[in-house]
Formats: sequence, structure tokens, C-alpha cells
Amino acid sequence: MSDPTDEKLLASVPTGLFVDGRWVEATGGRRLDVVDPARGAVLTTVADASPADGLAALDAAHRAQESWGRTAPRERAEILRRAFEMVTARAEDFARLITLEMGKPLAESRAEVGYGAEFLRWFSEEAPRIGGRYATAPDGRNRLMVRKRPVGPCLLITPWNFPIAMATRKIAPAIAAGCTMVLKPADLTPLTALLLTQVMDEAGLPAGVLNVVTTTDPGGVTGPLIADPRLRKLSFTGSTPVGRRLMAQASEQVLRVSMELGGNAPLIVCEDADLDEAVEGAITAKMRNGGEACVAANRILVHRSVEDAFVQRFRERMGGFVLGPGDEPSTTLGPLIDERSRSKVDDLVRGAVREGAGVALGGEVPAGKGYFYPPTVVTGVRPDMAIAREEIFGPVAPIMTFDDDAEAVRIANSTDYGLVAFVFTRDIDRALRFSERLEVGMLGINTGVVSNPAAPFGGVKQSGLGREGGAEGIEEYLETVYVGIRDPFAAEVDA
Ligand code: NAD
Repeated sequence: MSDPTDEKLLASVPTGLFVDGRWVEATGGRRLDVVDPARGAVLTTVADASPADGLAALDAAHRAQESWGRTAPRERAEILRRAFEMVTARAEDFARLITLEMGKPLAESRAEVGYGAEFLRWFSEEAPRIGGRYATAPDGRNRLMVRKRPVGPCLLITPWNFPIAMATRKIAPAIAAGCTMVLKPADLTPLTALLLTQVMDEAGLPAGVLNVVTTTDPGGVTGPLIADPRLRKLSFTGSTPVGRRLMAQASEQVLRVSMELGGNAPLIVCEDADLDEAVEGAITAKMRNGGEACVAANRILVHRSVEDAFVQRFRERMGGFVLGPGDEPSTTLGPLIDERSRSKVDDLVRGAVREGAGVALGGEVPAGKGYFYPPTVVTGVRPDMAIAREEIFGPVAPIMTFDDDAEAVRIANSTDYGLVAFVFTRDIDRALRFSERLEVGMLGINTGVVSNPAAPFGGVKQSGLGREGGAEGIEEYLETVYVGIRDPFAAEVDA
């Protein structure tokens, strides 16, 4: 990174912990390195929190909860709306920062900032719509009053793959609901979360509502918070193994949990699909975010009769990606996040070849700096191969075939995951039959993208619990309180 604009931008991002409305250093002044995955160079350092720093953040969130929970919904809405406008005004700074620390091409970072900002706007509109009800009991006598209140201090843990959107998808509904929070962003991409925190502060969020701790010791810092009875909610986005561990820890306090975990999305191309549309959809579903997305198409299931035609066109489109640093204008595919991820992707491809699959494109780690991996098409994949069972998280498309819809459904459902599926067909009844049979939380019909701030995002099976976005998203941060009331006419009758 030698661009003076980027150097100025980096120098403007706060690098401390944000606790009780102030930027502070970590205990002992410890720092962690933030690395540019395209060049392997250290961009800057940020505070590396200790367990005591994490608890100080929870202290602040707990202190702020009572008064924050009583603020007018309109006041919370207006803070979110201001934050939406400020993020939008600084969209280019956010996009450059995402590309620097995460590696995706600038065009994709810009799209993420737009998507991430939308959660601030969406939930600014949801805050004044928190409902309740007053009803007559079935016997016509007593009254039932049901109201919502904020669940209380939350711990929000986010991954590195969408550094702004995964944060706003939690922060915005928590603010709208009247919760305070401790955010722990991924240590691989903390800068975007820190700039976002600065913006939230400038948008008028009171001290203690949003606290942020960055750390290389996620288990050590979050463990004591999850065990602390002052914490009332854990919302996690990340891998299934870590999610499972956190759920076990959360069970001790019977904490409310939301879990947005891994995926293994099937993308089904039926014989009656518009093949051009299916190829474009598959390219989007596979290559958005360089394949580093929980909703990435992980298994492409093609009807045997259209396999050759699909593979030929798909391979051509995959071959058109330009691999390079995300800040170069010609780049359409950036590096993977780190060496560990790259060797996992490489191992999966090599393993598939050993088990009898073929490589129609890519498949070789390039020489040189940065964690690059080329667009890769693997054919002849079987459902039992590791590449079809594990989340790939890279630009690798395994292609398998099926002979009828029942087989497609069987293969698609033969996984512990259940986040999303995609189906390409011109037959609406067929698409709806798939929607009823596929074990997923989300389905895309003739589209490779389902993410939308107005829609409930989330999975079934080991892809998680709860939903983010949509009208459902705020419910994760609200408790339902029921008040039973004696028949108001009882006294009148008695008199
Ligand atoms: P990860 O599970 O390694 O880390 C996620 C977060 O958890 C990070 O902040 C990390 O520091 C923290 N963490 C790690 N170990 C922890 C521990 N023991 N205790 C507490 N926190 C801990 O996942 P990742 O590699 O950052 O992200 C990729 C994964 O996230 C993929 O599996 C992907 O599918 C998933 N993901 C899911 C969604 C969704 O909405 N379902 C969205 C994006 C990413």
C-alpha cells in the first residue's frame, strides 16, 4: 500500500478500544497487526483487548442499558437515520478500507457498503414500529396485554468476510430495539468496525450503548462476558464449530442466542432452465465476495442433459475473472483472506482430484505475494467427496449432475447445513415444489443473490438459529412481556 489517499485514510481510523464513549488503549498497551491480504504487509495495528478490557466494556453496556432502553423509539430511529446518511456520505472511505483489510475488489466493497448502510436505514424505520397488543381473553372476561421490551446488553461477534454489513446487521436492530452492546469484530478486519463506531458516535449514540473490543484472544475475552449474568443476549456470525461452542457456553446462563453460521448452498440447474440466466446466476452465487460468503454456491447441481452446455459457458465466464489486488481497477477477483484459507481451498481441490474429479479450469496456487487462488471449476464431483461436504470459502465451483428432481432434492439436503439454495427453472410449480422440499432458510429462484435488508436472513439445521434483517430482525433483540388484567367490567357488575 503506497497510495497517499489510503495512508491518509488509515491514519484517520481510530485504533483503540471504544468503551463508555471513549477511545482507550488495551491493558498493557497490547496491539494486534492488521494485514493487507493482497500484499501480505502490515497496514497498521489496533488495540488487542484482554479479558479485563472485555469486562470493562460490559460494565459500560450494563450501566447504559436502563436509560437507553427508555429512550423514545423515534430518538433511536433518528440516530440510525443519521448514521445511514453519514456512512453513505463516507461510502468511498469505507469501501477502500474494506478492500485494504479484507481484499475484495473495490466495486464489491462499494456494493457491501451500500448493503451494510441499508441495515441502518431499514432499522431506523423499524424502531417506531415495535408493536404490542391488548386483547380480550377467549372467555370474554380478562384482558391480555402484550408488550415488547429490549432484551438487554448484547454481545455481538462478527466475521471478517463482510466487515461492515455483518456489523450493521446486528448493531442496527439492537439500537432500534433499545439494547446496549459489546461488539467484537474479527481481528482480521477490525478497521471497518472501528470507523463505523466513530460514525455511530458522531451520529449521536450515547456513551455506553455501543462498545467495541478488538482482540487476538476471542475465546478469552468473550468467555467471561457470556458467563456474566448481566449479559442477556449473544448474536454470533461465523463458522459452525465456533457457533456450536458458543451455544454450549451460552446455555449456562440460558442466554438468548442468534447464530448465523456456515453454509453449503446447492445451486440446482434444471433441464428447462434458461441456461444463460443459470450461468449468470451461478457466477454471482459462486463468485460474489470471491466465494468467501456463507451463501456462496458450494455445490452446483446440473441436470445431466444440460451438463455439457452449462459447463462450457460457465467455464468461459469463470475464465474471464481477473485476479489481482482489490484496489487495482482491472481486478475482478481479489485474494483470499489468509494463507490458512488458501491452503484449505487448495487441499479440497487436490482431494477431489485424488478422488476422481476433473479440473476444467484453474486449480493451481499462483506464485508470488498475497493469498491468491484462481477461479476454478471442478467437474465429476460426487456428493460424498469432501469438496461437496465442506464449506469451500473460495472461488472454486464443484459441478455434479442429477437425473430427476427427487435426486436433486436428496443431494441438496444431504448436508448438516441449511442456509440457502438456488434453483433455476422456467416452471413455477416446479420451483415452488423445490421451495417446499429443500431444507434451507432461504431460497433464490432464478437469481444468484438473496441477501436483502428487508428480508429475513438465516438458516436451519447447523446453519444457525434466528433471522437478521426484515421485520423479523428486530425481534431477536426484544423480549415479549405479557400482563394479565382482571376483567375491567368485573367491578361494575359487582357494584
Ligand atoms: P470464525 O468462526 O472463525 O470467526 C467468527 C468470529 O468469531 C470472529 O470474530 C472470531 O474472532 C470469533 N471467534 C473465533 N473463535 C472464538 C471463540 N472461541 N469464542 C468467541 N469468539 C470466537 O469464522 P470466520 O472465519 O471469521 O468467518 C467465516 C465463517 O462465517 C464461515 O463459516 C461463514 O459461512 C460464516 N458466515 C456466516 C454468515 C451467516 O449469516 N450465516 C455470514 C457470514 C459468514
